[in-house]
Amino acid sequence: MSYGYNGKILRVDLSSGAISVDEPDEGFYRHYVGGRGLVSYFLLRELASGIEPLGPENKLVFANGALTGVPVAGSGRNSVGAKSPLTGGYGDAEVGGYWGAELKLAGYDAIIVEGESERPVYLWIEDGKAEIKDARHLWGKTTGECEKLIRKELGDRGIRVAQIGIAGENQVRYACVINDISHAAGRTGMGAVMGSKKLKAIAVRGHQKVALSDARAVNSLARQFRDWLKINRSAVNLSENGTAGGLMALNTASGLPTRNFQEGVFEGAEKISGEAINENILVGRRGCYACPIRCKPEVATKKPYNVDPTYGGPEYETLAALGSNCGIDNLEAIAKGSELCNAYGLDTISTGACIAFAMECFEQGILTEQDTDGLKLNFGNAEAMLKLVEMIARGEGIGMVLAHGVARAAVAFGNGAEEFAMHVKGQEIPMHEPRYKQALGVGYTISPTGADHCHNIHDTAYTDRIPGDLRALGVFQPLPSQELSAAKVRMLVYGSNWQHVLNCLVFCQFVPLRPGQIIDLVRGVTGWDTNIWELMKVGERCIAMARAFNIREGMGRSEDHLPRRFFIPFTSGPLEGISLDDGEMYRAIDTYYAMVGWDGDGAPTLAKLQELGIEWVADLF
Ligand code: SF4
Repeated sequence: MSYGYNGKILRVDLSSGAISVDEPDEGFYRHYVGGRGLVSYFLLRELASGIEPLGPENKLVFANGALTGVPVAGSGRNSVGAKSPLTGGYGDAEVGGYWGAELKLAGYDAIIVEGESERPVYLWIEDGKAEIKDARHLWGKTTGECEKLIRKELGDRGIRVAQIGIAGENQVRYACVINDISHAAGRTGMGAVMGSKKLKAIAVRGHQKVALSDARAVNSLARQFRDWLKINRSAVNLSENGTAGGLMALNTASGLPTRNFQEGVFEGAEKISGEAINENILVGRRGCYACPIRCKPEVATKKPYNVDPTYGGPEYETLAALGSNCGIDNLEAIAKGSELCNAYGLDTISTGACIAFAMECFEQGILTEQDTDGLKLNFGNAEAMLKLVEMIARGEGIGMVLAHGVARAAVAFGNGAEEFAMHVKGQEIPMHEPRYKQALGVGYTISPTGADHCHNIHDTAYTDRIPGDLRALGVFQPLPSQELSAAKVRMLVYGSNWQHVLNCLVFCQFVPLRPGQIIDLVRGVTGWDTNIWELMKVGERCIAMARAFNIREGMGRSEDHLPRRFFIPFTSGPLEGISLDDGEMYRAIDTYYAMVGWDGDGAPTLAKLQELGIEWVADLF
């Protein structure tokens, strides 16, 4: 077996209680590497088309990568994947923290959870041993309570727990898997799949070390990176302000989603900015395994909200989703909303987007107080936002409808509500405005998981100069943010493919290492004589498999589109008069398909699959 891996994948059938171990060979690991590569492989290979995402036939895959658990900044991550109950297609999410690293140190590279249990259970893994345990006493607990109880019951405070809250138990379609209480595998509803299997948690403890091919080289790289991160501007900014540090710049440029993406400038932005957090509610910072950046805020407030710092604090996506996009400038209320989402296991992006959607429907007269249990759902109503978070997690009243996501809720509301449902393939749009970052808009449309900002490019990073990540891939020409030329699409293809590589390794995109540094690290860890060509092919391979999964589910070109709102110009602010253009967007999508070897319906061609060494995929869709 290759260095960097355990060579073992745990398979747990919750219907029968059977536990077994797969032992793939080194060729398998080198071809698919980990994270999204393993998730897309197993979902495509092992799921039949048309299965119910919240039924026993779905499988939930937790996957580490080659770098998970290596003591280097950015390596404390894992992927979680399954058929998505939100989109009906390929689902996965990546998450930081400590759990993934602990799983690697406990002897496994991945876990495949099959079937469904009759009663609530949790999985306990320690140094290669795995056991299914009763979780009836944990069902209904918040994530904070559940972690405490498991650690007490198993007598070890070092245990790491990935789990669902009540939102996952109630199968909210955008429930997330939370590990280490404040780290969320947020998108595509993986917590709902876990809840459907009655799997409350996976507790892990490992005392091994990751076997390194060249420990001296890896340790030397780790030291170099640590020194570099102390002086790198982007890393220092993240340490001091977290991702919230960019909120004001987005607002200034008209890129801060406001009132359900109606506007890009929020008059209350300063009150919910990174600076406001630092000045008013920050009590500490936390991070992920082996990472000195520690970009995650811990916040606390007193009455009326009494926000508990155990649950971390709001990052950029949460500040915009529960804040500006709902017209709310009350930072303490947003912090409370963030705490509730982590305690209940809700994706803050989809939760905020669903609330903003309901608010616009209310202001448009599609919903009335009769529909909302008397809630006045006007934009800016912080108390209503908090109440809706509770109602969504518990499946109460209108919360039960919103728990299905904006696409399904719009159908339920009728009366033209679809116009205000901001999603792609059923997944709510993250807090990045595609009229401002236009290639990101193309990335939203073609992504197999629906709108996603994490395996995408953000145009504004490449308007003045090309940083090291894309230069290493042969992209040298800066381009305007509001442009969709073929050169811009090439930038998107290369940039998003590099993100897929990071998601296979599974490595944090916020740690500002260049491809060359990552490759040195992979070589030192695995002993593979690898290079950028081979790794980029790994990225292409995983996305071709994920795309094939969707085609098999009937999700082709007709699903690759953005909400109409983004084709309507802003009426005020710095981007007044700017919108996406239908013709340019469709040309860009065509160009993207052609560049990556997909046919007119967006299906990978046989020749492309053969070139990627995964011709077996052609027989499956
Ligand atoms: S940069 Fe932030 S999110 Fe990334 S590994 Fe470090 S602490 Fe975690």
